[in-house]
Amino acid sequence: MVARYDRAMQSRRALAPTDLDHPIRSVLPELARGSAGLARLGITTPREALWYLPFRYDDFSELRPLGDLRQDEKQSARVRVDAVRVEPGFGRRPQRVIAQLSDDSGSAEAIWFGRRFVERRLQQGDELIVSGKVTQKGWRPQFTSPEFTPVGRESVHTARVVPVYHLAAGVTQKRLRELLARILEAALAALEDPLTDAERGTLLPLDEALRTAHFPETEAETAPALDRLAFDELLALQLTLAQARRARDELIAPAIRVPPSDVAEIVGALPFTLTGDQGAAVAGIVEDLASERPMRRLLQGDVGSGKTAVAAVALACAVRAGWQAALMAPTEILARQHYAGLAPLLDGLGVRAEFLSGSLTAARKRAIRDAIADGMAEVVIGTHAVISEAVDFPRLGLAIVDEQHRFGVGQRAALQAKGSGGEPHTLALTATPIPRTLALSVYGDLAISTIRELPPGRKPIRTEIRDRRALPKIEEFLASEAAAGRQSFVVVPLVMESDALQVASAEAEAERLAAALPALRVGLVHGQQKAEARDATMTAFAAGEIDVLVATTVIEVGIDVPNASVMLIEDAERFGLAQLHQLRGRVGRGTDRSFCILLSDATDELALARLDVVRGSQDGFEIAEADLRLRGAGNLLGTRQSGLPPLRVASLFEPRHLRLAQRARELADRVVRDDPALARRPELARLQADFAPIEEEGDAA
Ligand code: ADP
Ligand code: MG
Repeated sequence: MVARYDRAMQSRRALAPTDLDHPIRSVLPELARGSAGLARLGITTPREALWYLPFRYDDFSELRPLGDLRQDEKQSARVRVDAVRVEPGFGRRPQRVIAQLSDDSGSAEAIWFGRRFVERRLQQGDELIVSGKVTQKGWRPQFTSPEFTPVGRESVHTARVVPVYHLAAGVTQKRLRELLARILEAALAALEDPLTDAERGTLLPLDEALRTAHFPETEAETAPALDRLAFDELLALQLTLAQARRARDELIAPAIRVPPSDVAEIVGALPFTLTGDQGAAVAGIVEDLASERPMRRLLQGDVGSGKTAVAAVALACAVRAGWQAALMAPTEILARQHYAGLAPLLDGLGVRAEFLSGSLTAARKRAIRDAIADGMAEVVIGTHAVISEAVDFPRLGLAIVDEQHRFGVGQRAALQAKGSGGEPHTLALTATPIPRTLALSVYGDLAISTIRELPPGRKPIRTEIRDRRALPKIEEFLASEAAAGRQSFVVVPLVMESDALQVASAEAEAERLAAALPALRVGLVHGQQKAEARDATMTAFAAGEIDVLVATTVIEVGIDVPNASVMLIEDAERFGLAQLHQLRGRVGRGTDRSFCILLSDATDELALARLDVVRGSQDGFEIAEADLRLRGAGNLLGTRQSGLPPLRVASLFEPRHLRLAQRARELADRVVRDDPALARRPELARLQADFAPIEEEGDAA
């Protein structure tokens, strides 16, 4: 029980089931003051709070004597406060509060930065439990910004397994934990389990799983709790997929029959010979197009493997057979790059392509819409403006979606609704390979074309692992590349705790590099910039007006700058392997030799083994499979970049969850077969709403 570890947090009342979906401030008025902070995290109702899960746990349950503290680990200790001193801030230096701590085994220091009024809660002689990360400062250990509570007043912050949540501005980890503990206590009893006992099997009841996922007694308890929550999430996803499958079974697409001689002619008109994998992908697509069953095919292959060429052939085939076709990309800059790459190919095939995006003038947009409406525009390439209400395709036969996972489900549905000769056939392109077993267990009936073979003449990218001591050398290298007219990417570390922190670190790194390399032009892109500002910087980089582009992972989407020769990734161990490979794919697209530097101070074996996989292989599939193998249990980082649907709890890199996905799929098929709208199972429809995909921030705009 939550109450067991913090009596002070006992809630004054229990909620009724219907309260779960009302504003926290009205059903739990005593928490009204915290509700604004919660709202910034997207939490407005108790139910949303229950599902706001930690992304990590810190195990502070073992108290350690100060004499035994270990370097660079998060630990707890029971200490006396011997002295407290406040050092005022000065210029850009923040205020610091320093406490001298001791116990019978030794002494330590604790330090807090910024005006956080820590000094008001600390006094000489206090007995505290402190929990935090320890580093060696001179001759004694130092806790950096530890959490602390008086001995005897146990809390949700110290001397236990502590949940760590994503934060937003104005909400502290501590405050959030307290609020969630109180909401949990009031709300859990009102929660109904959406699964029947038979469906649940050996999984934990939902209330128990949620309680444990937030406030486990031991770290070992978290796995079964997260399994249950993962199952619910996978079930929500599978229900949606099962409904879509069912709906699709009733849909009819135009049978686009392209005679083999036409296909041969189109392929023959390309400026190069297709690789074997490209040819096989074309054959699969041509076969699917000929059927009245709407195509749902995924074309996957590394960046530069030649997906665009396959897309060009598919578009030309549809047009040759008398249909219109569209290609959509998630951002303006990507859409423009597609247009730039496809238009000449299509032109050579005698097909006219138009570009359409929200940024065009009203008159231009109108002209293109008219050309689409009267069938003059055969291929339209653009952002999601292509599917805006006002665009009317009389004969849309094929829709190609780039980086499919970056689109919300709603947008995909809108595109599919555009076909007026029936459902259009759809082809999704992705540069993030999905191991086959994994894709099948999620999508089941999705057809997959895979390009493994790279076009001839590709130069390998030299990949090296370096630690921070090498930074000065690396900076010299960036400077010499710039002097030779080449460009570099610098990707800043992932910060899981909050986007704002990540942006701050990107800004700081850009400033640092600009100071260290005064002769170079340093640019910065991150996810909290306005899409136009970011696109402008990307465009300037593509035009060679910026030498070093500091970026958060927003650059991961396929921007193509052939002149970029260096990819420097900081704290590389924090990224998924597939993501590192993706990032590396941003270089090596031109004729120069290129480099990827994985900067990491990690010392643990697993982290180094993972980085070594990326260093040693240029094959995205090999890397994805190694990633699957190497990721251990309890990985909460999810699959954001995997090309799979965004999952919050489940990790499809986790074999246990993969099995749960299969089970969820069977259950979903069974339920949806008899009751497609879930009319008899409103609690399952509720589950779908709880797990409605979170739209990607910024970069899908
Ligand atoms: P992707 O879309 O998978 O990133 P692209 O289709 O843009 O890859 O291809 C990358 C580059 O390789 C392009 O310059 C393209 O013209 C070229 N290319 C594609 N297929 C072949 C091929 N079969 N032979 C030679 N060059 C190719
Ligand atoms: Mg491409």
